Order: sequence, then C-alpha cells, then structure tokens
Amino acid sequence: MRGVDYHFAMDAPRLTVALTIDHDAISDSIRRGDSPVKFSHAEFGPRVGAKRILELLASRAIPATWFVPGHTLTTFTDDTDAILAGGHELACHGWFHEDFAELGLDQTRDVLGRSLEAVRAVTGAAPAGFRAPYWSLGTQTLDRLRTITSRRLLEVRVSVDDVDGTAERA
Ligand SMILES: [Zn+2]
Repeated sequence: MRGVDYHFAMDAPRLTVALTIDHDAISDSIRRGDSPVKFSHAEFGPRVGAKRILELLASRAIPATWFVPGHTLTTFTDDTDAILAGGHELACHGWFHEDFAELGLDQTRDVLGRSLEAVRAVTGAAPAGFRAPYWSLGTQTLDRLRTITSRRLLEVRVSVDDVDGTAERA
C-alpha cells in the first residue's frame, strides 16, 4: 500500500517532546558564596517551585527528566522522593552546579563520580543523562564521563536565546 497510513497517523503522537527540568536549588549559591538575598531566590525551588511543577506534571500524566545537582538531591530529599514517586527520571547535573569548563581533571573526575553516585544511591541505577550546568563543558568533561560511566555518549548541545539575543544559562 502506498501513501499515508492514516490509521497510524491518527494514533501516533504528532509531536514528541523531551521535557527536562533543572532543580538546582541553592547548590550554586553555596559554591559561589552568594548573599542571603540570592540564597532566598534559590530556595524558591525546594520550597515552592518543584512541588508546583510535580503537581502539574502529575495532573497531565507527563513524565519528565529532572537534572538535579548532588547537593540538592541529598539535601532536599523530600523533593527527590517526590520526583521518583512521580515516575520521573533523575539525571546528573554536577554536585554544586559547577561550571565544568573551570574544573581541572581531578576536580572533574571527583565531581562527576560523586554526583553520578548520588543519583545511583537513590535510583539504584546509574543515571542515563548528564547536563552540564551552564551548558559549559571542559575539554575533558566528556572523556571523564565516558570513562566513569563506560557508556557511549550522545552529545546534545542546545542554546536558547532570549529576546535580547543572549544565551540563557541552564
Ligand atoms: Zn542547572
């Protein structure tokens, strides 16, 4: 049969979307030594934001991938439990939301190992995903990741421009 299989087309999703969420909380504020005001901004996620997003996703039965720094994962354990209870994927996002372009090899290995282990400790499996904070990779980040995980990596680089044309930081 030639042409469009309309039965398939009617049942198949018209668009597939990968919905991902960064739940950074106060991780990068701790690393940077931010002021109390900036800390209070970062507390919005664990106090309010994550719960609202989880409720919205649950109401629509939408699965998502949550990129969560190890510090957030182990500090805000109610959020970690709620993410997993909601059937969402947990993926690696550093420990203190580090800029991997600024890390040396030993630091990269340590941060990746520690943050990958934090995900494994709560899910029982190695994470399948990693998102570099700020979309920033060091020259050896992916090689370190390959070595630690023994996995082939699919590298996806995305930037989102805001109305001013400047790249948004993830
Ligand atoms: Zn982030």
